[in-house]
Amino acid sequence: MTRLVILGKQGAGKGTQCAFLVDYFGIPHISTGDMLRAAVAEGTELGLKAKAIMDAGDLVSDELILGIVKERLSQPDAQNGFLLDGFPRTDAQAQGLVEMLAPDGIDAAIDIEVPDDVVTQRMLARGRDDDTPEAIQRRLQLYQEETAPLLSFFSSRGVLTAVDGLGTEQEVKNRIVNAIKSQQ
Ligand code: AMP
Repeated sequence: MTRLVILGKQGAGKGTQCAFLVDYFGIPHISTGDMLRAAVAEGTELGLKAKAIMDAGDLVSDELILGIVKERLSQPDAQNGFLLDGFPRTDAQAQGLVEMLAPDGIDAAIDIEVPDDVVTQRMLARGRDDDTPEAIQRRLQLYQEETAPLLSFFSSRGVLTAVDGLGTEQEVKNRIVNAIKSQQ
């Protein structure tokens, strides 16, 4: 059983590391951003609600997000572990996650640490539709206000490990695997 949460600013290298981790631990990758983008592409009601919010770099409501995560975690493939990516992003989402998983919890929360100027350069370089300078700025601000406080949430539960996100992909991978193994 490996229940993981990956934290870090957008552009911290979560995407690359998640692809590696789900393969390494044989667990599903549950990315709320990917689920929302799929809903936008399919033009579902959820997608229509989410698109403008995502384009502005704002956060989709906790209620909507908790709904899609709860549904996803109830699927058979998530019963033996999972990697949550892009969730939780607010205190309400973190509380909701704890309720959903009770009486179990998260095994490890990994924070990939990269300074703002480095993630900004990386995001501008990847050039996704929602990677405008204004939206990047807004997301960094929201990360600071809403998501950074979650570090103490996981830390107080004894499951947080901060990993230096600078260096080669392989170096960061090794740091993360060592961090998770030391939590298990
Ligand atoms: P991401 O791919 O994780 O960068 O997410 C892309 C966008 O989807 C974010 O900028 C938000 O607008 C929205 N989003 C993804 N996950 C969440 C979440 N857990 N809570 C609120 N909004 C989210």
